[in-house]
Amino acid sequence: MKQKMKSKVLVVGATGYLGKRLVKASLKLGHPTFVLFRRELCPLDIEKVQLLLSFKEEGACLVKGSFEDHKSLVDAVKMVDIVICAISGVHIRSHQILLQLKLVEAIKEAGNVKRFLPSEFGTDPARMENAMEPGRVTFEDKMVVRKAIQEAGIPYTYVSANCFAGYFLGGLCQPGKILPWNDSVVLLGDGDRKAIYVDEDDIATYTIRSIDDPRTLNKTMYITPPKNVLSQGEVVQVWEKLIGKELIKSSVSRGEFLDAIKRLDYAEQVGLTHYYHVCYEGCLTDFEIGENGVEATQLYPDVNYTSVEQYLRRYL
Ligand code: NDP
Repeated sequence: MKQKMKSKVLVVGATGYLGKRLVKASLKLGHPTFVLFRRELCPLDIEKVQLLLSFKEEGACLVKGSFEDHKSLVDAVKMVDIVICAISGVHIRSHQILLQLKLVEAIKEAGNVKRFLPSEFGTDPARMENAMEPGRVTFEDKMVVRKAIQEAGIPYTYVSANCFAGYFLGGLCQPGKILPWNDSVVLLGDGDRKAIYVDEDDIATYTIRSIDDPRTLNKTMYITPPKNVLSQGEVVQVWEKLIGKELIKSSVSRGEFLDAIKRLDYAEQVGLTHYYHVCYEGCLTDFEIGENGVEATQLYPDVNYTSVEQYLRRYL
């Protein structure tokens, strides 16, 4: 029997924390995988160059292109069925929106793309219209990109990946920490707001599974592994069980947290206001998925996702 050809995938931002996992997942799931090799990439960035070469060895096709060269983007996009953008959010915020709008223009002109997944992979921006300054800029920017995609009539899937496990679980949900400590922990408030933690490789797997699935067409796909919906206090308990020891606990009240934010620089303030919405307000878990949304673990029950306990075992 003739096998259906797998969709061809272009990953933009492939050398990033999430991007490299998307490339690997795409290759693993058998998609012809293309990677945008940006000409403006610093020629002395040996790690990036080596990473790109390793993608090639694993079977990906490197496509030269530049955000400064519209035609090169159009040509790259014309080679594939699906475009996934995973360029950074935190460090180049205003840049991200401009770059993504350039990509939207290229996809519109190319006219062949069956699905575009913009660089989202976090809290659903459509639910954050009351977010605090200055962090709201992230959500506003992502909504500008969504508007451009929809006005251009480009088929899309928005992936709401909740909390990247490495950033949140690694530090037991303490901002600014990415390693768990064995003696003490600072709880945000009572540490009782539920959040959702997702292994970054699982995010990549669910994302690639969604790209040619009619059920995710023009929808937001939330990744909400049911076992990983835990409060900070529950995450700490999992860790305590693993190390066989109770941690000394202190806590930061809402007011103290908001006061402390004011003394930080702009980029840190942006990041910490996101933490505030997640950890003090429980913004990831205070809603039901509506008709414009689908949930990844329900769509793909065969994916054996990593639990919080399994993820934390890495740090033992
Ligand atoms: P990274 O910071 O790792 O960067 C990803 C890529 O961005 C880079 O490899 C690079 O692509 C591209 N990039 C950086 N600067 C430029 C530039 N000036 N011009 C063009 N491209 C540039 O990104 P992450 O993997 O951390 O983030 C990906 C997405 O995930 C973002 O949307 C972010 O908001 C989200 N995120 C969500 C988190 C969560 O907890 N939910 C946590 C962290 C991120 P290349 O060099 O390959 O061309």
